Amino acid sequence: MNPRVQELAARWALKSPELASRIARALPLTQGVTMLTAGFWAVNNGGDVCLVNMASCECKDAQSGHKCKHVLAVALVFASQEPKPRCMRRKIWHLPG
Ligand SMILES: [Zn+2]
Repeated sequence: MNPRVQELAARWALKSPELASRIARALPLTQGVTMLTAGFWAVNNGGDVCLVNMASCECKDAQSGHKCKHVLAVALVFASQEPKPRCMRRKIWHLPG
């Protein structure tokens, strides 16, 4: 697994303890994240694929207003790629940089 993803996950879990359990579940999902087109991602969870559109997802957890593990997995992959301005990351994902 990408060490930068792991480092980010640890940092986010510290900054947002309420998200820590979802971040832990998102971590293995980061291996199944594929960008489809700008802003649209597929998260493959052992054959169960969720479509994630920036900060929303089609799964039940997201529909009930939570930041689900799929969105977090995409956010981790997105943030671990080339450096982006902190303000941009926060605006898109509403997560600590
Ligand atoms: Zn989801």
